[in-house]
Amino acid sequence: EPSDRNEGEVSGAKVIAQALKTQGVEYMFGIVGIPVTEIAFAAQELGIRYIGMRNEQAACYAASAIGYLTGRPGVCLVVSGPGLIHALGGMANANMNCWPLLVIGGSSERNQETMGAFQEFPQAVRSSIYGRPGACYVDIPADFVNLLVNVNSIKYTECCMSPPVSMAETPAVCMAASVIRNAKQPLLIIGKGAAYAHAEKNIRKLVEQCKLPFLPTPMGKGVVPDNHPNCVGAARSRALQFADVIVLLGARLNWILHFGLPPRYRPDVKFIQVDICAEELGNNVRPAVTLLGDINAVTKQELASQKSPPMNYYTVFYHVQEQLPRDGFIVSEGANTMDIGRTVLQNYLPRHRLDAGTFGTMGVGLGFAIAAAVLAKDRSPGQRVICVEGDSAFGFSGMEVETICRYNLPIIILVVNNNGIYQGFDTDTWNEMLKSQDATIAAPPACLLPNSHYEQVMIAFGGKGYFVQTPEELQKSLRQSLADTTKPSLINIMIEPQATRKAQDFHWLTRSKM
Ligand code: ADP
Ligand code: MG
Repeated sequence: EPSDRNEGEVSGAKVIAQALKTQGVEYMFGIVGIPVTEIAFAAQELGIRYIGMRNEQAACYAASAIGYLTGRPGVCLVVSGPGLIHALGGMANANMNCWPLLVIGGSSERNQETMGAFQEFPQAVRSSIYGRPGACYVDIPADFVNLLVNVNSIKYTECCMSPPVSMAETPAVCMAASVIRNAKQPLLIIGKGAAYAHAEKNIRKLVEQCKLPFLPTPMGKGVVPDNHPNCVGAARSRALQFADVIVLLGARLNWILHFGLPPRYRPDVKFIQVDICAEELGNNVRPAVTLLGDINAVTKQELASQKSPPMNYYTVFYHVQEQLPRDGFIVSEGANTMDIGRTVLQNYLPRHRLDAGTFGTMGVGLGFAIAAAVLAKDRSPGQRVICVEGDSAFGFSGMEVETICRYNLPIIILVVNNNGIYQGFDTDTWNEMLKSQDATIAAPPACLLPNSHYEQVMIAFGGKGYFVQTPEELQKSLRQSLADTTKPSLINIMIEPQATRKAQDFHWLTRSKM
């Protein structure tokens, strides 16, 4: 170890070691030799742990594992030529694993070849951990190592900041939430990117809040413990094969995951891909939703948007059926509203159900309800009329609400509102669609204005209006409407815009689709 010749001077090796220390490097693996020996000594002196290995390849593997485990690059110190060549295996492995790594190699003296500059340390550390993590190589010319420089002429760049946290765009987060909610067999795949991102707390919340089965990749294991009841690791092949929606959290669709292709996956499986690397998105398969960002941040966003999930048809009708008076009239029209409602809402008396009928007519509902309510008034006072309308169907005769109010008929109108005909879109998606194009050009024909307050129509004429988004609100408004025998009411029930009926796997339906 060359000692500094005078107080004011310091060797290149010490400058390098101090620069590493300043960048928060804690571990160095390597094999010393000309010209890098002094760097190892200097590093050790500053408290950086130096581990001498027997082959640069193993040293490089070790340093990269430090990067994965701590989020700050480990250093692999190698000599020029064969040392660097041996390290290449470790660099390639770190790069393929997306693990940060700093390889420092000594090359020949500057007067013998092109110059490399050790002033590039901070940039090297930064680029190893920013964006998709990976390996960086810094070349140190031999004469730099023992060069003496004036202490006052050195300026260490301060430790680079932790990688900035990026989040996915909001419409994509909402879209993903909706795809997950409507999945019949969802599956979360947890990769080592999720492990690297330290996203364990939020991923566990997502698993439990959305009741998602999950499958860890080999190094994704333990992010959520293997013994968690939702872990389907033991049925890996079947889980992959039958999932209709797969959320990829920091795992690539490479050979480990059979490229995301049939026969190991359903041909129609929808992937939701979360990754910090834009270039990775859409690799091999075309994802239904891509979420570009840090896994921990995106998982948090997803959790926020999954709070109080919108109701679907089945939730709505379940709660309606619970309170429906047995002798009531059920009037109904709409597409899904009428179809699904018919299977869930029970009739106990003949001639007490009126709907779109043989002709499949939309717009009959309010007229039918008025007739039933007038009859009830005359013949069996107290008998209620419940009019279950899709939001589109309601629109066909909505102005009859004025008639209902004028004659003070205590009809209860339920508008099951999915923002459209058959299916609609949520406000965010709608706004996104119309951001760059006028509605007259870009609005999908099946869409109605999202979040329309149909209950205001009833309020306009003096009846009672309710806007409900949760099962609790639905129960409460139904109870109040049924309790009030003097006034009509309209309950506008917001449901998941993309909600549909449960899948039916009758062979004739399957065949007719082909
Ligand atoms: P596995 O082998 O577990 O399937 P892969 O190495 O295939 O994992 O995929 C890891 C993915 O994680 C890479 O595409 C990488 O870009 C990504 N990644 C790494 N860190 C983060 C992070 N903080 N946030 C999001 N994605 C990340
Ligand atoms: Mg993978």
